[in-house]
Amino acid sequence: MSALHAEAQAAQQRLDRGQPLSAFDGLGIAVKDNFCTSFLPTTCGSKMLEDFTSPYNATVVDLCLKAGTICVGKTNMDEFGMGSANAFSYFGPTINPHKSDTPRLAGGSSGGSAAAVASGMVFGALGSDTGGSVRLPASYCGIVGFKPSYGRCSRYGLVAYANSLDTVGLLTRTVEDAKVLYSLLDQYDINDPTSMPSELRNKVNVMTTRRRKMEARGDLTNVRIGIPKEYHVKELPESILRLWKKGIEHLKGLNATIVPISLPHTPYSLSCYYVLAPAEAASNLQRYDGVRYGYRSKTQSEERSPLYEDTRMEGFGEEVLRRILLGTYALTSEAFDNYYLQALKVRRLVRQDFDNVFALQNPLIQSDPNHDTPNDDNENTVDVILTPSAISTAPSMSEFSKLAGDPVHNYLNDVMTVPASLAGIPALSIPFGTDETDGLPVGLQLLSQYGDDEMLLSVGRVLQ
Ligand code: GLN
Repeated sequence: MSALHAEAQAAQQRLDRGQPLSAFDGLGIAVKDNFCTSFLPTTCGSKMLEDFTSPYNATVVDLCLKAGTICVGKTNMDEFGMGSANAFSYFGPTINPHKSDTPRLAGGSSGGSAAAVASGMVFGALGSDTGGSVRLPASYCGIVGFKPSYGRCSRYGLVAYANSLDTVGLLTRTVEDAKVLYSLLDQYDINDPTSMPSELRNKVNVMTTRRRKMEARGDLTNVRIGIPKEYHVKELPESILRLWKKGIEHLKGLNATIVPISLPHTPYSLSCYYVLAPAEAASNLQRYDGVRYGYRSKTQSEERSPLYEDTRMEGFGEEVLRRILLGTYALTSEAFDNYYLQALKVRRLVRQDFDNVFALQNPLIQSDPNHDTPNDDNENTVDVILTPSAISTAPSMSEFSKLAGDPVHNYLNDVMTVPASLAGIPALSIPFGTDETDGLPVGLQLLSQYGDDEMLLSVGRVLQ
């Protein structure tokens, strides 16, 4: 009997005796369709994988099942996670459950998971966040979207979009729910080479527990909240700006200290992301060749290399093809230095911006105890950063279609979310009221130092 089989049998026996498997036993969850499941197909929202069923479960799926949650279904998504509105799925768009005159999109790419939670179908859902894909749909649907620090939750069995940016994300109705679901998934996994190792987890625990004295439990005395001036982008409408200010006032009212900060490389984040993510994606997507698994073209083309080219032209949607072109170009010998290498350098600068403002030292940096200059006592440094999650509310299908010919405009939607992805730091989108112009939900985003996920959730809990 395999270990897994034995475990399943033990679980069944406990169930038969009427004992709950965990605090989550019996709760329904939804799983984004880019997490491998052996019991349901994994399509990634693509024709390429329409009939694909994985032989194994993603680690996070197994952890949920072992705790007794019930996976009620896989959820719609932008093809291979590429998109911000959930309008780029082979199976059609995901409609936002929030009532409005014209149907709105749920946001992407984890739109199906966000809609399932927002409509009350499930307690929580698994999503993935490469550049904002749980935070944006959470903001559009009026729920909580949590992207933990890179490496906290196992990516084993999560179909790769851009490995160095991909993180498991959680969607729930409350921060409290996100916290309990996260406690289940925050584990080292030997099957994921980028999983945060146990020693680093211990180091982070020691570093953050020392600061737990400023733990936020309704009162934020001693908590410093940074407001970065670079997030005041010109595309941000007055109505969202007002809610951001309301969020700042709310935190002030709880005795938090508000600190204006600067993250000077933020304006370069979006272009940096749209070089790195497509480059990694182009490389990852080479595995869909019509030979090993997935869609295989039946066209017998004479003039083209029949199988490979036809399979990819027919199997991938337009946005995925665009990303492959973008990414492949960035990796060509003539563009590599000017695009890919530059983007890697910008990424490091974005990371350093955050390190300069957070009071907690980045646990990934090896510090020399003799030359340690902790930011902790510096009153210009902060524990958490507050920004809007998005520059708009959920678009309608017609608004979105109008921009179909202007992909760069679509990429702009990610301007608030990509810096945290480039830096690998945790980020949390919290529903914070509705926009006065259209009555649709708006989210505010909290960011904290790498590994300081608990701090984020504690402050998030009092902001919601
Ligand atoms: N909208 C971004 C993109 O299209 C982010 C998507 C994601 O986080 N998966 O790449």
